[in-house]
Amino acid sequence: MLEFREVRKQFQVAGKTIPILDIPEWNVNQGDKIAITGPSGSGKSTLLHLISGIMKPDSGVITLGGERLSEMNEPARDSYRSAHIGYIMQDFYLIPSLTAKENIEMALSGAAKGKSRRGSVDEWLERVGLKDRGAHKPAQLSRGQQQRVAIVRALIHEPELVLADEPTGSLDWETADEIGNLLLELCGSHKQTLLVVTHDLNMAERFPATQHIHQINRMNRTLQVQEDVAI
Ligand code: ADP
Ligand code: MG
Repeated sequence: MLEFREVRKQFQVAGKTIPILDIPEWNVNQGDKIAITGPSGSGKSTLLHLISGIMKPDSGVITLGGERLSEMNEPARDSYRSAHIGYIMQDFYLIPSLTAKENIEMALSGAAKGKSRRGSVDEWLERVGLKDRGAHKPAQLSRGQQQRVAIVRALIHEPELVLADEPTGSLDWETADEIGNLLLELCGSHKQTLLVVTHDLNMAERFPATQHIHQINRMNRTLQVQEDVAI
């Protein structure tokens, strides 16, 4: 459902070009649940930004759900993302002035307000153990509870592809464990694809598949070789 061919991404910083990603070939099948691991600065977030269409590659082809994402303009990528992708970030990004329920409702389009195919917002809140917390604002929730709200917000429109960038990075290990389990449980359907970037090896172990960024990114492989030689 996702294909990368000869994809490159680089950044310009102070007049210098810094290559970050060089992905000759990478394929993800529908229904795959993959934990992507790798050191800080190795391009994991950049990879998710390319998949979600937040960024465009400098060259190469990204195909998602049969569509050439890398050839779409920004508005087309934005609308593709809101229809097909659920995105969960390390720091939740809930709107502080809105309640948990209102934060979730924002993700539902006009026609679907209040109800998704898998039930109402209240049913979703119950599913993630927040039955009595719908009227709470983010500051009145624990960090783990805030992440649960962010997860419902990302999943309620039933995206084919769920991307999570270090979803447990700012949580204590016990809460991180619960959130990892919850993500796998909620995205358990054979149709839903889940890609989670994490350096929580505990969580990665729970996934049916783990890929190190060096397996995907040739750039890092070269860096890795240099590091190895240096050692
Ligand atoms: P990771 O998520 O694996 O920690 P990132 O994908 O965030 O890594 O970043 C990879 C590298 O690209 C880092 O060295 C980072 O400094 C650099 N980088 C990321 N975004 C930008 C940007 N917008 N401009 C310049 N450099 C960036
Ligand atoms: Mg990152």
